[in-house]
Amino acid sequence: MLIVGSGPAGADLAWRLASGGADVLLVDRLADLTRAAFSSAALPLAAVREHHLPETVIAARWRGWQLLGPGPSERLWMADEPLGAVLDFGALRQWMAQRAAAAGARVQLGVHCEGWRASGAGARVQLRDPDGQRRTLHPRWLVDATGQQRALLGEPPPSADPLVAGVGVEWLLQVDPPRWRRWAEQLSFMLGSDWVPQGYGWVFPMQPGVLKLGICRLQDAGTAQPPLQGLLRQLQVRLGLADATVLDRHGGLVRSSIRRREPHRRGPLLGLGDAVSTANLLGGEGIRHALSSSATLAPLLLAALAGHPQALDPYPRRLRRRLGWRWSLSGRLAQRTWLGLRTPAADRRLERLLTGLEACNAEDLAALLFNYRFERYGLRALPYALGWR
Ligand SMILES: Cc1cc2nc3c(=O)[nH]c(=O)nc-3n(C[C@H](O)[C@H](O)[C@H](O)COP(=O)(O)OP(=O)(O)OC[C@H]3O[C@@H](n4cnc5c(N)ncnc54)[C@H](O)[C@@H]3O)c2cc1C
Repeated sequence: MLIVGSGPAGADLAWRLASGGADVLLVDRLADLTRAAFSSAALPLAAVREHHLPETVIAARWRGWQLLGPGPSERLWMADEPLGAVLDFGALRQWMAQRAAAAGARVQLGVHCEGWRASGAGARVQLRDPDGQRRTLHPRWLVDATGQQRALLGEPPPSADPLVAGVGVEWLLQVDPPRWRRWAEQLSFMLGSDWVPQGYGWVFPMQPGVLKLGICRLQDAGTAQPPLQGLLRQLQVRLGLADATVLDRHGGLVRSSIRRREPHRRGPLLGLGDAVSTANLLGGEGIRHALSSSATLAPLLLAALAGHPQALDPYPRRLRRRLGWRWSLSGRLAQRTWLGLRTPAADRRLERLLTGLEACNAEDLAALLFNYRFERYGLRALPYALGWR
């Protein structure tokens, strides 16, 4: 059993399968999983608890929301207790791979999967080791957990439900204690076309003295989009963070289809996590959904490994059910909100939506943004989400 990609999805699956007694090899092209930590890694507390994430991977906790914009608007919702965490994504990946190894999985880093093809009852997979040597493996089952790159599954076939892509860039900033406190304990978002056309900006707290400043924008081939680095620099200046030391610069893509109807399997190859569109575009958020995909696939794969390959048939259906109908609705809302957010009229519409949210408390907002409970906010949001308004 070979899993390619030791992100949250692949490392979680390796741990679950090894714990179930399977012989598992987990490979990742990164030589050090603490490097290239591209994800902002904000999660609700329920996900931290559900996945038993240890203190060592938690950089900060948050208990509220701050929204700046559109225009001069500023809104703040704070709860008394923490509502979520911002993880150190590099530490998370390392902990997850170590947990898989402790359960008996073989973990090999710096190993690049160059390609595969179906062969007999299984797969023939070409790997390149850190010293440049090539080797071929013949696993019965192979998992593509390479994230949105879909290095093994490839691009989904053309369909009415194409991939929607958001590009994210994030800088890790070192700031003095007073400035850190200004942004601590809350997730702050900058909304409106004068901040980030067709996207949004954010400031998340990390450990004391460190902030994450980021920007995400949906790709729109039909519109000229200014370079993201320039927008991020403008954000830094407007937020009074211009003289902060930049400790790290990273970024990446979030790519998902909205209805998630793409193939999840090609013969002995199964897709997992972002490779089968589990990342949600509303908040560019996918860690907990990637973990849901491995929790869904693991028992089915264990049954397949025990000689019942038909156990894998319900995988796409079960994963869709686990993500829930609200998942697709929120994707539609994301596409509509972010792509359209480039005119004063769209700013005014967003302003009206946010004014409607002022009656909510911080917990309601978390339910809206993480559980996609639009009906809780009121039926007024639904026509907007569905594009009727
Ligand atoms: C800028 C940004 C901000 C984000 N912020 C958040 C957030 O706040 N909260 C949240 O929940 N999610 C966030 N996400 C999304 C989240 O990070 C992803 O949804 C999540 O990491 C997906 O997990 P995964 O295991 O499916 O894939 P990944 O985490 O992408 O893991 C894939 C792994 O496969 C490896 N790999 C790729 N190709 C090969 C190959 N050919 N051979 C060997 N190894 C290979 C890669 O090195 C990588 O380690 C963000 C994403 C971006 C880009």
